[in-house]
Order: sequence, then structure tokens, then C-alpha cells
Amino acid sequence: MTPSQMARKRDIHDLSFEEISVYIAELSDRPFRAGQIIKWLYEEGVQSFDEMRNLPAELRQRLNGDFLFDPIVVARQVVSVDGTIKFLFDLTDQQKVETVLIPTSGRVTACISTQAGCKFGCKFCASGVGGWVRNLTCAEILYQVLHVRQEARKHQRRLSHIVFMGTGEPLDNLDNVLKAIRIINAPQGLGIAARHITLSTVGLIPVFEELADQGMQFELAVSLHGYDDASRNLLMPINKKYPVGELVRACHEYIRKTNRQITFEYILIDGVTCTDEAAVKLGRLLKGMLCKLNLIPCNPVSEFGHKPPTKDQIRLFTERLDEVGLHYTLRRARGKDVSAACGQLRLSEKK
Ligand code: SF4
Repeated sequence: MTPSQMARKRDIHDLSFEEISVYIAELSDRPFRAGQIIKWLYEEGVQSFDEMRNLPAELRQRLNGDFLFDPIVVARQVVSVDGTIKFLFDLTDQQKVETVLIPTSGRVTACISTQAGCKFGCKFCASGVGGWVRNLTCAEILYQVLHVRQEARKHQRRLSHIVFMGTGEPLDNLDNVLKAIRIINAPQGLGIAARHITLSTVGLIPVFEELADQGMQFELAVSLHGYDDASRNLLMPINKKYPVGELVRACHEYIRKTNRQITFEYILIDGVTCTDEAAVKLGRLLKGMLCKLNLIPCNPVSEFGHKPPTKDQIRLFTERLDEVGLHYTLRRARGKDVSAACGQLRLSEKK
């Protein structure tokens, strides 16, 4: 097959279930063939049409002519002492993306990337170093999930949770991300409950309305990482465009429309975000909102020079949060020994 013929073909994982059904209907084939194809793709996770044994040879040939399987390839895989596995994948255009499998006693989570590189340049995140290259396709997102599920199965575990917290801003690639989520969530797809799927965002306010209108029960995590404009400006350039006050108003509106709690991601940096003033101002900012704070002690990234606070500083900070009445969780560091923080493996490979 010539490269131009290849370029015209779509990866079969880029098709929604409706699109597969329409394709089958246009071939005047029996409607149940669509269900059979979907089962092979997402229940069995096959890598070729030839493995779809209950399809007639003619249909398999036709599918081979119209679509392709273009799986992402593992370039590196590192396993942490705590069981976290980090994958660095090669895409067909030599771009690289990271995916993380995080097994704990009660759940197995896949942390998925949605873009190659990132344009938002948060000042604590290795993914933003080097800028944005392109959006990932729906297929490239799904291949990450399928690979992690396969890895989990090898360890007799079931992939139960998906977080879109890898490289990239999911709301900046919303169509492909939502298409992938529908397949991940569908019972005949990967069957992962919407409440076990978390979309993380820097706070692209104009997209919140569209998100709220989806009518899906996924979780929304908003990267706050600051307690006022001055502190957030230091860490998140996006705050100059969408300041904290506007962000909080948009979150109130999102909660009003969806009746769903928002999680605010909040990085703990020694002397910057983990201070008494920060706790008090956070209390004022988020007062009365249906939300929780997820506290994340920072991972040192050499480009930025931030230091995580000590255990004592974190204890003092959380005591203050208790006093101001904020609900919070403290994220346990996972995979520290394998650069599990967002973008670190990709960045080390680039270097
Ligand atoms: S935290 Fe998210 S939005 Fe910010 S630079 Fe990293 S990947 Fe991009």
C-alpha cells in the first residue's frame, strides 16, 4: 500500500459505534456485524481484522481495504517499586506520549495523555516544557487505554478508573476526548463507569458549558494551584486569560447545571502554595462550593526548582484547612522512582 493510500485510511478505533453501524448499513450487510466488530475491538482487543473469526472473509477483506490498525508502540516501560508502571509510547510520526498504570488495593487507574506536548506551560509540569505539537486522535487515546487494560489483565487485575491527567489539556482536544470517553464508558466498549472517569483541566472556561451539556456523569478536576491571582499567575500562565474569580464563577455555574462536585487540584510547594495565608484565602475562595481540594505535594522537576513541603508543613497547612472548613484529600506520591510526574519520562527521553 502506498503512503497516500495509507493516509486516506482511518484507524478503525477513530470510528464511533454509530459510525461503524452506518458503515455496515452502507455495505448492506447484516446490522449485527457492527456489534461483532465492536466486540472484537473492545472486549477482545484484537490487533487485526483477520483475528475477527466470526466475520465472513469478504467483510474482513473489505475492512482491511477501508481501515487500518495503527497501534502505538511501547518505546520504554519502567516499573516502580510500588507497582506503578509508566509507558512511553511512539506514535507513527515519531512523537512520544506517556501513559501510567497505577494499581492500588481497591482500584487500577490509567492516566492517559490527550496531546503530544502541551501549550499551557504550567510552571511545575514537565509536559509543558517544549510546547505543544498536536492533538492525539481518538484512536491514539484508546490505544493507551487498551494497552493498560491488557497489562492489568496480565496481573489478573481489572482496569477500573481512567484519569485524563497525562500530557496535554483534554478540553483543548475535546471532540476526540469525548469520542474516546463514550467508547470507554459504553457497556459494549470498555464498560468503565462514567463516575470512574476524570477529566482534568487548567480551567478553559469557555468549554465548561459544552462539557456541562454532555449529560455524562464523569468527574471534573480543575487545576487550581493558586489561592489568588498573584499566586496562580506564578504557576499557571492561563490565569492571565481566565483569572481565579472568573474560574470560580464558571465552576459554580457548572455545579449548578450538573449538580456534580468539582475537585480542585492544588499543588503543595514549599513557601509558595503551602502557607497559612494560602489556606485562609482558599477557604474564602471556595466557601460554600460543592467541591473538594486534592492536595498534591510537588515532584521536583529540575527546570523549575520547586521544593515539596515537609510533612510538618503539610500537617500545619491541613490543620488550617480544617479550621476554614475545606474538604480535602492528600494525594500519595506514586512511582516517584520512575519519574511518574506528568511529562518527566518524555522530557528525559527528549533530552
Ligand atoms: S499541568 Fe496539564 S495543562 Fe499544565 S502544562 Fe502540564 S499537561 Fe499542560
